[in-house]
Amino acid sequence: MSARAKVGRSQVFRLVTIFSSGFGVASLSLWALMLNRIGDPGMFGFSTMSAVIAGLAALAGAGCAHAYYIGSDETAKVYEEAIATDSTTGLFSRAGLKQEIAPLIERATGKARSFERRMLVSVEIDAFRDINNQHGPETGDRVLRLMGERIRRLVGGLGPVARIAGSEFAFTFEVGHDDCELHAVMTALLEEMSRPIRAGDIVIPVFCTAGLVELGKETTSLDTALRRTNLARTTARAGGLGNWTIYHPEMTQIDTYRKWIEGELSNAIETSAFEVVYQPQVESHTGRLTGYEALLRWEHPEKGFIPPSEFISVAEKCGLIGQIGMWVLERVCNDAARFPEDTTIAVNVSPKQLENPNFVSQLADTMRRAAVRAERIELEITENILIMDSAKVRQKFQAIRDLGCPISIDDFGTGYSNLGYLAELPFTKLKLDRSLVSRLGERDNGTALVATIVNMAHALNVSVLGEGVETEEQVALLQAAGCKLMQGYYFGKPVWLERAQDKAA
Ligand code: C2E
Ligand code: CA
Ligand code: CA
Repeated sequence: MSARAKVGRSQVFRLVTIFSSGFGVASLSLWALMLNRIGDPGMFGFSTMSAVIAGLAALAGAGCAHAYYIGSDETAKVYEEAIATDSTTGLFSRAGLKQEIAPLIERATGKARSFERRMLVSVEIDAFRDINNQHGPETGDRVLRLMGERIRRLVGGLGPVARIAGSEFAFTFEVGHDDCELHAVMTALLEEMSRPIRAGDIVIPVFCTAGLVELGKETTSLDTALRRTNLARTTARAGGLGNWTIYHPEMTQIDTYRKWIEGELSNAIETSAFEVVYQPQVESHTGRLTGYEALLRWEHPEKGFIPPSEFISVAEKCGLIGQIGMWVLERVCNDAARFPEDTTIAVNVSPKQLENPNFVSQLADTMRRAAVRAERIELEITENILIMDSAKVRQKFQAIRDLGCPISIDDFGTGYSNLGYLAELPFTKLKLDRSLVSRLGERDNGTALVATIVNMAHALNVSVLGEGVETEEQVALLQAAGCKLMQGYYFGKPVWLERAQDKAA
Protein backbone atom coordinates (compact mmCIF):
# COMPACT_ATOMS: atom_id res chain seq x y z
CA MET A 1 0.00 0.00 0.00
CA SER A 2 1.34 3.45 -0.83
CA ALA A 3 2.17 5.98 1.86
CA ARG A 4 -0.63 8.26 0.57
CA ALA A 5 -3.38 5.57 0.90
CA LYS A 6 -2.26 4.94 4.45
CA VAL A 7 -2.49 8.62 5.33
CA GLY A 8 -6.14 8.56 4.08
CA ARG A 9 -7.00 5.68 6.36
CA SER A 10 -5.41 7.26 9.36
CA GLN A 11 -7.53 10.39 8.80
CA VAL A 12 -10.70 8.25 8.94
CA PHE A 13 -9.55 6.84 12.27
CA ARG A 14 -8.91 10.31 13.57
CA LEU A 15 -12.51 11.25 12.63
CA VAL A 16 -13.83 8.20 14.52
CA THR A 17 -11.80 9.27 17.52
CA ILE A 18 -13.17 12.82 17.43
CA PHE A 19 -16.75 11.56 16.96
CA SER A 20 -16.43 9.10 19.87
CA SER A 21 -14.93 11.76 22.10
CA GLY A 22 -17.82 14.13 21.26
CA PHE A 23 -20.34 11.44 22.02
CA GLY A 24 -18.60 10.62 25.30
CA VAL A 25 -18.58 14.27 26.41
CA ALA A 26 -22.30 14.69 25.55
CA SER A 27 -23.23 11.54 27.52
CA LEU A 28 -21.20 12.71 30.47
CA SER A 29 -22.98 16.10 30.57
CA LEU A 30 -26.37 14.35 30.50
CA TRP A 31 -25.28 12.02 33.25
CA ALA A 32 -24.19 14.98 35.39
CA LEU A 33 -27.61 16.56 34.86
CA MET A 34 -29.30 13.36 36.02
CA LEU A 35 -27.04 13.23 39.04
CA ASN A 36 -28.18 16.67 40.18
CA ARG A 37 -31.72 15.45 40.29
CA ILE A 38 -31.12 12.20 42.24
CA GLY A 39 -32.99 12.26 45.56
CA ASP A 40 -35.97 14.08 44.00
CA PRO A 41 -39.18 12.17 44.62
CA GLY A 42 -39.90 9.83 41.69
CA MET A 43 -36.40 9.97 40.45
CA PHE A 44 -35.78 6.25 40.55
CA GLY A 45 -36.50 6.00 36.86
CA PHE A 46 -33.96 8.77 36.12
CA SER A 47 -31.26 7.10 38.25
CA THR A 48 -31.60 3.93 36.25
CA MET A 49 -31.50 5.94 33.07
CA SER A 50 -28.42 7.82 34.25
CA ALA A 51 -26.69 4.50 34.93
CA VAL A 52 -27.56 3.39 31.39
CA ILE A 53 -26.27 6.68 30.00
CA ALA A 54 -23.13 6.41 32.14
CA GLY A 55 -22.65 2.94 30.70
CA LEU A 56 -23.07 4.32 27.21
CA ALA A 57 -20.58 7.06 27.98
CA ALA A 58 -18.14 4.46 29.22
CA LEU A 59 -18.66 2.47 26.03
CA ALA A 60 -18.12 5.58 23.96
CA GLY A 61 -14.98 6.26 25.96
CA ALA A 62 -13.78 2.74 25.35
CA GLY A 63 -14.63 3.13 21.64
CA CYS A 64 -12.74 6.38 21.61
CA ALA A 65 -9.74 4.77 23.31
CA HIS A 66 -9.92 1.82 20.92
CA ALA A 67 -10.18 4.08 17.90
CA TYR A 68 -7.34 6.15 19.26
CA TYR A 69 -5.31 3.00 19.76
CA ILE A 70 -5.92 1.81 16.19
CA GLY A 71 -5.39 5.35 14.90
CA SER A 72 -2.08 5.80 16.70
CA ASP A 73 -0.92 2.34 15.58
CA GLU A 74 -1.74 3.24 12.02
CA THR A 75 -0.14 6.69 12.33
CA ALA A 76 3.00 5.09 13.70
CA LYS A 77 3.09 2.80 10.66
CA VAL A 78 2.67 5.75 8.30
CA TYR A 79 5.40 7.59 10.17
CA GLU A 80 7.68 4.57 9.99
CA GLU A 81 7.08 4.22 6.28
CA ALA A 82 7.72 7.92 5.72
CA ILE A 83 11.09 7.80 7.48
CA ALA A 84 12.00 4.57 5.67
CA THR A 85 11.60 6.31 2.30
CA ASP A 86 13.69 9.07 0.78
CA SER A 87 11.16 11.58 -0.54
CA THR A 88 13.43 12.96 -3.31
CA THR A 89 14.27 9.69 -5.03
CA GLY A 90 11.62 7.25 -3.74
CA LEU A 91 14.47 4.93 -2.69
CA PHE A 92 14.95 3.68 0.87
CA SER A 93 16.31 6.20 3.37
CA ARG A 94 19.11 5.27 5.77
CA ALA A 95 16.46 4.14 8.31
CA GLY A 96 14.74 2.08 5.62
CA LEU A 97 18.00 0.49 4.58
CA LYS A 98 18.69 -0.42 8.20
CA GLN A 99 15.42 -2.38 8.38
CA GLU A 100 15.88 -4.05 4.99
CA ILE A 101 19.48 -5.00 5.50
CA ALA A 102 19.18 -6.50 9.00
CA PRO A 103 18.02 -9.97 7.79
CA LEU A 104 20.62 -9.91 4.99
CA ILE A 105 23.41 -9.21 7.48
CA GLU A 106 22.05 -11.95 9.75
CA ARG A 107 22.09 -14.44 6.88
CA ALA A 108 25.60 -13.39 5.81
CA THR A 109 26.83 -13.72 9.41
CA GLY A 110 25.15 -17.11 9.91
CA LYS A 111 26.71 -18.75 6.85
CA ALA A 112 29.73 -20.84 7.83
CA ARG A 113 31.07 -21.01 4.30
CA SER A 114 29.50 -19.70 1.17
CA PHE A 115 30.21 -19.44 -2.53
CA GLU A 116 28.99 -15.89 -2.44
CA ARG A 117 29.76 -12.85 -0.29
CA ARG A 118 27.35 -10.03 0.39
CA MET A 119 28.84 -6.61 -0.28
CA LEU A 120 27.58 -3.24 0.88
CA VAL A 121 28.51 -0.37 -1.43
CA SER A 122 28.27 3.35 -0.73
CA VAL A 123 28.69 5.68 -3.69
CA GLU A 124 29.02 9.44 -3.51
CA ILE A 125 28.54 11.97 -6.29
CA ASP A 126 31.71 14.05 -6.00
CA ALA A 127 31.35 17.81 -5.62
CA PHE A 128 27.56 17.59 -5.73
CA ARG A 129 27.48 20.90 -3.85
CA ASP A 130 28.93 22.54 -6.97
CA ILE A 131 26.16 21.04 -9.16
CA ASN A 132 23.56 22.42 -6.74
CA ASN A 133 25.20 25.85 -6.61
CA GLN A 134 25.73 26.10 -10.34
CA HIS A 135 22.41 24.75 -11.63
CA GLY A 136 20.04 25.24 -8.67
CA PRO A 137 18.44 22.80 -6.22
CA GLU A 138 15.75 21.63 -8.67
CA THR A 139 18.38 20.39 -11.11
CA GLY A 140 20.29 18.99 -8.13
CA ASP A 141 17.22 16.94 -7.14
CA ARG A 142 16.84 15.81 -10.73
CA VAL A 143 20.44 14.59 -10.76
CA LEU A 144 19.81 12.68 -7.52
CA ARG A 145 16.66 11.04 -8.94
CA LEU A 146 18.47 10.07 -12.13
CA MET A 147 21.42 8.64 -10.27
CA GLY A 148 19.07 6.68 -8.01
CA GLU A 149 17.32 5.36 -11.11
CA ARG A 150 20.61 4.29 -12.68
CA ILE A 151 21.58 2.31 -9.58
CA ARG A 152 18.13 0.78 -9.24
CA ARG A 153 18.17 -0.32 -12.87
CA LEU A 154 21.50 -2.06 -12.47
CA VAL A 155 21.36 -3.61 -9.00
CA GLY A 156 17.83 -2.96 -7.68
CA GLY A 157 16.93 -6.62 -8.25
CA LEU A 158 19.80 -7.80 -6.08
CA GLY A 159 18.99 -5.97 -2.83
CA PRO A 160 17.72 -2.71 -1.32
CA VAL A 161 18.91 0.59 -2.83
CA ALA A 162 18.96 3.69 -0.61
CA ARG A 163 19.89 7.35 -0.58
CA ILE A 164 21.49 7.67 2.82
CA ALA A 165 22.73 11.28 2.86
CA GLY A 166 22.97 14.34 0.58
CA SER A 167 24.61 12.82 -2.46
CA GLU A 168 25.41 9.40 -1.03
CA PHE A 169 23.72 6.19 -2.11
CA ALA A 170 24.06 2.70 -0.67
CA PHE A 171 23.09 -0.73 -1.96
CA THR A 172 24.00 -4.33 -1.52
CA PHE A 173 24.50 -7.38 -3.71
CA GLU A 174 25.95 -10.87 -3.57
CA VAL A 175 28.98 -11.72 -5.63
CA GLY A 176 31.40 -14.67 -5.91
CA HIS A 177 34.81 -14.62 -4.22
CA ASP A 178 36.49 -14.13 -7.58
CA ASP A 179 37.52 -10.47 -7.70
CA CYS A 180 37.08 -10.39 -11.50
CA GLU A 181 33.32 -10.69 -11.04
CA LEU A 182 33.25 -7.87 -8.50
CA HIS A 183 35.45 -5.81 -10.78
CA ALA A 184 33.05 -6.28 -13.69
CA VAL A 185 30.02 -5.24 -11.60
CA MET A 186 31.71 -2.17 -10.13
CA THR A 187 33.20 -1.02 -13.43
CA ALA A 188 29.81 -1.30 -15.16
CA LEU A 189 28.14 0.52 -12.30
CA LEU A 190 30.57 3.43 -12.05
CA GLU A 191 30.61 3.81 -15.82
CA GLU A 192 26.82 3.99 -15.85
CA MET A 193 26.71 6.39 -12.92
CA SER A 194 29.35 8.66 -14.41
CA ARG A 195 27.57 9.20 -17.72
CA PRO A 196 27.01 12.96 -18.10
CA ILE A 197 23.48 14.11 -17.33
CA ARG A 198 21.50 16.19 -19.77
CA ALA A 199 19.19 18.75 -18.15
CA GLY A 200 17.48 20.80 -20.87
CA ASP A 201 20.23 22.48 -22.90
CA ILE A 202 23.01 21.77 -20.47
CA VAL A 203 25.16 18.70 -20.00
CA ILE A 204 26.36 18.09 -16.45
CA PRO A 205 29.44 15.90 -15.99
CA VAL A 206 29.17 13.66 -12.92
CA PHE A 207 31.91 11.77 -11.11
CA CYS A 208 31.35 9.17 -8.44
CA THR A 209 33.54 7.39 -5.90
CA ALA A 210 32.60 4.13 -4.21
CA GLY A 211 33.66 2.22 -1.10
CA LEU A 212 32.77 -1.41 -0.42
CA VAL A 213 32.70 -3.70 2.58
CA GLU A 214 31.82 -7.36 2.93
CA LEU A 215 28.87 -7.87 5.29
CA GLY A 216 28.92 -10.55 7.99
CA LYS A 217 32.25 -11.56 9.52
CA GLU A 218 33.29 -8.50 11.54
CA THR A 219 30.78 -6.17 9.92
CA THR A 220 27.48 -6.97 11.55
CA SER A 221 25.75 -3.60 11.79
CA LEU A 222 24.83 -1.08 9.11
CA ASP A 223 26.45 1.80 11.00
CA THR A 224 29.81 0.01 11.21
CA ALA A 225 29.51 -1.10 7.59
CA LEU A 226 28.86 2.46 6.38
CA ARG A 227 31.74 3.85 8.43
CA ARG A 228 33.98 1.31 6.72
CA THR A 229 32.69 2.07 3.23
CA ASN A 230 33.45 5.75 4.01
CA LEU A 231 37.04 4.88 4.88
CA ALA A 232 37.31 2.83 1.68
CA ARG A 233 35.92 5.80 -0.29
CA THR A 234 38.54 8.12 1.18
CA THR A 235 41.24 5.73 -0.05
CA ALA A 236 39.56 5.36 -3.45
CA ARG A 237 39.35 9.13 -3.89
CA ALA A 238 43.11 9.49 -3.39
CA GLY A 239 43.53 7.34 -6.53
CA GLY A 240 41.76 9.83 -8.82
CA LEU A 241 38.27 10.36 -10.18
CA GLY A 242 35.75 7.52 -10.58
CA ASN A 243 37.56 4.98 -8.42
CA TRP A 244 36.35 2.35 -5.94
CA THR A 245 38.03 0.30 -3.22
CA ILE A 246 37.12 -2.47 -0.78
CA TYR A 247 37.55 -1.80 2.93
CA HIS A 248 40.59 -3.34 4.57
CA PRO A 249 41.20 -3.30 8.38
CA GLU A 250 44.38 -1.31 7.74
CA MET A 251 42.16 1.58 6.68
CA THR A 252 40.94 1.99 10.27
CA GLN A 253 44.58 2.35 11.38
CA ILE A 254 45.20 4.74 8.51
CA ASP A 255 42.22 6.80 9.68
CA THR A 256 43.75 7.07 13.18
CA TYR A 257 47.07 8.03 11.60
CA ARG A 258 45.37 10.68 9.44
CA LYS A 259 43.79 12.19 12.56
CA TRP A 260 47.24 12.33 14.16
CA ILE A 261 48.65 14.02 11.04
CA GLU A 262 45.85 16.57 11.14
CA GLY A 263 46.89 17.50 14.69
CA GLU A 264 50.57 17.78 13.75
CA LEU A 265 50.18 19.74 10.50
CA SER A 266 49.52 23.15 12.04
CA ASN A 267 52.68 22.72 14.17
CA ALA A 268 54.65 21.92 11.03
CA ILE A 269 53.75 25.29 9.51
CA GLU A 270 54.69 27.15 12.70
CA THR A 271 57.96 25.30 13.29
CA SER A 272 59.11 25.49 9.62
CA ALA A 273 59.34 21.70 9.39
CA PHE A 274 58.63 21.86 5.65
CA GLU A 275 61.22 21.91 2.89
CA VAL A 276 61.10 21.82 -0.90
CA VAL A 277 63.09 19.51 -3.20
CA TYR A 278 63.46 19.86 -6.95
CA GLN A 279 63.29 17.18 -9.65
CA PRO A 280 64.63 17.94 -13.16
CA GLN A 281 62.47 17.87 -16.28
CA VAL A 282 64.31 17.33 -19.57
CA GLU A 283 63.87 17.30 -23.32
CA SER A 284 64.98 13.70 -23.81
CA HIS A 285 66.33 13.76 -27.40
CA THR A 286 68.55 16.82 -26.78
CA GLY A 287 69.21 16.25 -23.05
CA ARG A 288 68.33 19.92 -22.47
CA LEU A 289 67.13 20.79 -18.95
CA THR A 290 63.76 22.53 -19.35
CA GLY A 291 62.77 22.97 -15.72
CA TYR A 292 62.09 21.45 -12.30
CA GLU A 293 59.14 20.22 -10.32
CA ALA A 294 59.03 21.45 -6.73
CA LEU A 295 58.02 18.70 -4.29
CA LEU A 296 57.17 19.29 -0.65
CA ARG A 297 59.02 17.47 2.15
CA TRP A 298 58.02 17.24 5.82
CA GLU A 299 60.56 16.24 8.46
CA HIS A 300 58.65 15.48 11.68
CA PRO A 301 60.77 16.01 14.84
CA GLU A 302 59.92 12.53 16.23
CA LYS A 303 58.54 10.52 13.35
CA GLY A 304 61.06 11.61 10.75
CA PHE A 305 60.19 11.95 7.06
CA ILE A 306 56.48 11.92 6.25
CA PRO A 307 55.79 11.62 2.49
CA PRO A 308 53.36 14.03 0.79
CA SER A 309 51.14 11.10 -0.24
CA GLU A 310 50.32 10.78 3.48
CA PHE A 311 49.68 14.40 4.40
CA ILE A 312 48.55 16.38 1.32
CA SER A 313 45.08 14.81 1.23
CA VAL A 314 44.73 15.39 5.01
CA ALA A 315 45.71 19.03 4.53
CA GLU A 316 43.11 19.28 1.74
CA LYS A 317 40.43 17.83 3.96
CA CYS A 318 41.15 19.91 7.08
CA GLY A 319 41.58 23.15 5.13
CA LEU A 320 45.31 23.71 5.81
CA ILE A 321 46.29 23.18 2.17
CA GLY A 322 45.75 26.88 1.37
CA GLN A 323 48.33 27.96 3.93
CA ILE A 324 50.78 25.16 3.04
CA GLY A 325 50.35 25.76 -0.70
CA MET A 326 51.10 29.49 -0.32
CA TRP A 327 54.22 28.65 1.70
CA VAL A 328 55.44 26.39 -1.17
CA LEU A 329 54.63 29.03 -3.77
CA GLU A 330 56.55 31.69 -1.88
CA ARG A 331 59.55 29.42 -1.41
CA VAL A 332 59.57 28.44 -5.10
CA CYS A 333 59.28 32.05 -6.30
CA ASN A 334 62.21 33.02 -4.06
CA ASP A 335 64.29 30.02 -5.19
CA ALA A 336 63.55 30.61 -8.89
CA ALA A 337 66.24 33.31 -9.15
CA ARG A 338 68.86 30.67 -8.28
CA PHE A 339 67.98 28.48 -11.28
CA PRO A 340 68.85 29.25 -14.94
CA GLU A 341 66.58 31.95 -16.37
CA ASP A 342 65.40 29.70 -19.22
CA THR A 343 63.99 27.02 -16.85
CA THR A 344 60.48 26.76 -15.46
CA ILE A 345 59.67 25.68 -11.90
CA ALA A 346 56.49 23.64 -11.60
CA VAL A 347 54.48 23.93 -8.37
CA ASN A 348 51.77 21.45 -7.39
CA VAL A 349 48.50 23.23 -6.71
CA SER A 350 45.62 21.38 -5.15
CA PRO A 351 42.15 21.94 -6.67
CA LYS A 352 41.09 23.02 -3.16
CA GLN A 353 43.52 25.97 -3.34
CA LEU A 354 41.78 27.21 -6.49
CA GLU A 355 38.51 27.45 -4.57
CA ASN A 356 40.00 30.38 -2.66
CA PRO A 357 38.68 33.52 -4.42
CA ASN A 358 41.97 35.33 -3.63
CA PHE A 359 44.24 32.63 -5.06
CA VAL A 360 45.08 34.40 -8.34
CA SER A 361 45.79 37.77 -6.69
CA GLN A 362 47.94 36.08 -4.01
CA LEU A 363 49.86 34.28 -6.77
CA ALA A 364 50.42 37.60 -8.60
CA ASP A 365 51.59 39.32 -5.38
CA THR A 366 53.99 36.48 -4.51
CA MET A 367 55.59 36.53 -7.99
CA ARG A 368 55.88 40.33 -7.91
CA ARG A 369 57.52 40.36 -4.46
CA ALA A 370 60.10 37.77 -5.62
CA ALA A 371 60.56 39.60 -8.95
CA VAL A 372 60.13 36.36 -10.90
CA ARG A 373 58.67 36.22 -14.41
CA ALA A 374 55.24 34.54 -14.44
CA GLU A 375 56.28 32.45 -17.49
CA ARG A 376 58.72 30.59 -15.22
CA ILE A 377 56.14 29.55 -12.57
CA GLU A 378 54.15 26.63 -13.94
CA LEU A 379 51.14 25.41 -11.95
CA GLU A 380 50.51 21.64 -11.88
CA ILE A 381 46.89 20.79 -11.23
CA THR A 382 45.52 17.24 -11.18
CA GLU A 383 42.65 16.28 -13.45
CA ASN A 384 40.55 15.98 -10.26
CA ILE A 385 39.85 19.62 -11.00
CA LEU A 386 37.13 18.29 -13.32
CA ILE A 387 34.80 17.65 -10.40
CA MET A 388 34.60 21.38 -9.71
CA ASP A 389 32.17 23.72 -11.39
CA SER A 390 33.54 23.81 -14.95
CA ALA A 391 32.69 27.46 -15.66
CA LYS A 392 34.47 28.56 -12.49
CA VAL A 393 37.52 26.41 -13.27
CA ARG A 394 37.76 27.80 -16.81
CA GLN A 395 37.60 31.34 -15.40
CA LYS A 396 40.34 30.57 -12.84
CA PHE A 397 42.56 28.91 -15.46
CA GLN A 398 42.10 31.90 -17.77
CA ALA A 399 43.00 34.35 -14.97
CA ILE A 400 46.18 32.34 -14.26
CA ARG A 401 47.05 32.21 -17.96
CA ASP A 402 46.39 35.98 -18.21
CA LEU A 403 49.06 36.48 -15.54
CA GLY A 404 51.41 34.53 -17.82
CA CYS A 405 51.83 31.29 -15.81
CA PRO A 406 51.78 28.01 -17.79
CA ILE A 407 49.36 25.32 -16.46
CA SER A 408 49.93 21.58 -16.66
CA ILE A 409 47.40 18.83 -16.02
CA ASP A 410 49.04 16.39 -13.60
CA ASP A 411 48.56 12.63 -13.20
CA PHE A 412 46.80 12.21 -16.55
CA GLY A 413 45.90 8.53 -17.01
CA THR A 414 44.64 7.85 -13.49
CA GLY A 415 40.89 7.82 -12.92
CA TYR A 416 38.83 9.47 -15.61
CA SER A 417 41.31 11.03 -17.98
CA ASN A 418 38.74 12.73 -20.09
CA LEU A 419 40.48 14.84 -22.73
CA GLY A 420 37.03 15.83 -24.01
CA TYR A 421 36.30 17.75 -20.80
CA LEU A 422 39.88 18.95 -20.41
CA ALA A 423 39.92 20.41 -23.92
CA GLU A 424 37.61 23.16 -22.66
CA LEU A 425 40.31 24.42 -20.30
CA PRO A 426 43.21 26.71 -21.30
CA PHE A 427 46.12 24.53 -20.13
CA THR A 428 49.57 24.22 -21.69
CA LYS A 429 50.95 20.80 -20.77
CA LEU A 430 49.71 17.27 -20.08
CA LYS A 431 51.69 15.12 -17.64
CA LEU A 432 51.32 11.41 -18.34
CA ASP A 433 51.06 9.54 -15.04
CA ARG A 434 53.78 7.06 -14.04
CA SER A 435 51.23 4.21 -14.27
CA LEU A 436 50.85 4.87 -18.03
CA VAL A 437 54.61 5.10 -18.52
CA SER A 438 55.35 1.89 -16.59
CA ARG A 439 52.80 -0.05 -18.71
CA LEU A 440 54.47 1.12 -21.92
CA GLY A 441 56.58 -1.94 -22.63
CA GLU A 442 54.13 -4.48 -21.21
CA ARG A 443 51.71 -4.73 -24.07
CA ASP A 444 51.62 -3.30 -27.56
CA ASN A 445 48.48 -1.31 -26.89
CA GLY A 446 50.25 0.51 -24.00
CA THR A 447 52.41 2.33 -26.53
CA ALA A 448 49.49 2.84 -28.93
CA LEU A 449 47.45 4.40 -26.11
CA VAL A 450 50.25 6.84 -25.24
CA ALA A 451 50.75 7.69 -28.93
CA THR A 452 47.03 8.48 -29.24
CA ILE A 453 47.08 10.73 -26.18
CA VAL A 454 50.20 12.53 -27.44
CA ASN A 455 48.60 13.11 -30.86
CA MET A 456 45.41 14.43 -29.32
CA ALA A 457 47.34 16.73 -26.98
CA HIS A 458 49.43 18.08 -29.84
CA ALA A 459 46.22 18.69 -31.81
CA LEU A 460 45.09 20.84 -28.87
CA ASN A 461 48.44 22.68 -29.02
CA VAL A 462 49.47 21.26 -25.69
CA SER A 463 52.88 19.69 -24.89
CA VAL A 464 53.23 16.29 -23.21
CA LEU A 465 55.60 15.18 -20.45
CA GLY A 466 56.06 11.55 -19.40
CA GLU A 467 56.42 11.12 -15.61
CA GLY A 468 58.20 8.48 -13.52
CA VAL A 469 60.61 7.49 -16.30
CA GLU A 470 63.01 4.96 -14.82
CA THR A 471 64.55 2.98 -17.69
CA GLU A 472 66.21 3.50 -21.04
CA GLU A 473 63.52 1.34 -22.62
CA GLN A 474 60.79 3.68 -21.34
CA VAL A 475 62.69 6.66 -22.78
CA ALA A 476 62.81 4.95 -26.21
CA LEU A 477 59.13 3.93 -26.12
CA LEU A 478 58.00 7.42 -25.05
CA GLN A 479 60.07 8.97 -27.84
CA ALA A 480 58.53 6.51 -30.31
CA ALA A 481 55.07 7.60 -29.11
CA GLY A 482 55.99 11.24 -29.83
CA CYS A 483 56.54 12.33 -26.22
CA LYS A 484 59.68 14.48 -25.92
CA LEU A 485 59.56 15.91 -22.40
CA MET A 486 60.37 13.56 -19.52
CA GLN A 487 60.88 13.44 -15.78
CA GLY A 488 61.85 10.53 -13.53
CA TYR A 489 64.60 8.76 -11.60
CA TYR A 490 66.32 7.94 -14.92
CA PHE A 491 67.09 11.66 -15.34
CA GLY A 492 67.37 12.59 -11.66
CA LYS A 493 65.68 12.17 -8.28
CA PRO A 494 64.23 15.16 -6.42
CA VAL A 495 67.08 16.93 -4.56
CA TRP A 496 67.65 19.95 -2.29
CA LEU A 497 68.10 23.31 -3.97
CA GLU A 498 71.91 23.37 -3.61
CA ARG A 499 72.28 19.93 -5.23
CA ALA A 500 69.84 20.88 -8.00
CA GLN A 501 71.87 24.08 -8.62
CA ASP A 502 75.10 22.07 -8.83
CA LYS A 503 73.55 19.83 -11.48
CA ALA A 504 72.19 22.76 -13.47
CA ALA A 505 75.60 24.46 -13.47
P1 C2E B 1 53.30 14.13 -8.30
O1 C2E B 1 52.95 15.55 -8.48
O2 C2E B 1 52.84 13.18 -9.32
O3 C2E B 1 54.88 14.06 -8.15
C1 C2E B 1 55.66 13.03 -8.65
C2 C2E B 1 55.95 12.04 -7.60
O4 C2E B 1 56.58 10.91 -8.17
C3 C2E B 1 56.91 12.57 -6.54
O5 C2E B 1 56.60 11.90 -5.33
C4 C2E B 1 58.25 12.09 -7.07
O6 C2E B 1 59.23 11.99 -6.07
C5 C2E B 1 57.87 10.74 -7.61
N1 C2E B 1 58.73 10.31 -8.70
C6 C2E B 1 59.37 11.07 -9.61
N2 C2E B 1 60.04 10.30 -10.50
C7 C2E B 1 59.84 9.03 -10.15
C8 C2E B 1 60.27 7.76 -10.68
O7 C2E B 1 60.99 7.67 -11.67
N3 C2E B 1 59.82 6.63 -10.06
C9 C2E B 1 59.03 6.69 -8.96
N4 C2E B 1 58.66 5.54 -8.39
N5 C2E B 1 58.59 7.87 -8.43
C10 C2E B 1 58.99 9.02 -9.02
P2 C2E B 1 56.44 12.69 -3.99
O8 C2E B 1 57.45 13.78 -3.90
O9 C2E B 1 56.38 11.67 -2.91
O10 C2E B 1 55.04 13.40 -4.15
C11 C2E B 1 53.86 12.66 -4.20
C12 C2E B 1 52.71 13.53 -4.54
O11 C2E B 1 52.44 14.48 -3.51
C13 C2E B 1 52.96 14.40 -5.77
O12 C2E B 1 52.75 13.61 -6.91
C14 C2E B 1 51.93 15.48 -5.59
O13 C2E B 1 50.67 15.03 -6.00
C15 C2E B 1 51.91 15.64 -4.09
N6 C2E B 1 52.72 16.82 -3.74
C16 C2E B 1 54.05 16.93 -3.55
N7 C2E B 1 54.38 18.20 -3.24
C17 C2E B 1 53.23 18.91 -3.24
C18 C2E B 1 52.91 20.29 -3.01
O14 C2E B 1 53.76 21.16 -2.75
N8 C2E B 1 51.59 20.65 -3.10
C19 C2E B 1 50.63 19.75 -3.41
N9 C2E B 1 49.34 20.16 -3.49
N10 C2E B 1 50.89 18.46 -3.66
C20 C2E B 1 52.18 18.04 -3.56
CA1 CA C 1 53.05 17.02 -9.92
CA1 CA D 1 52.08 13.43 -11.33
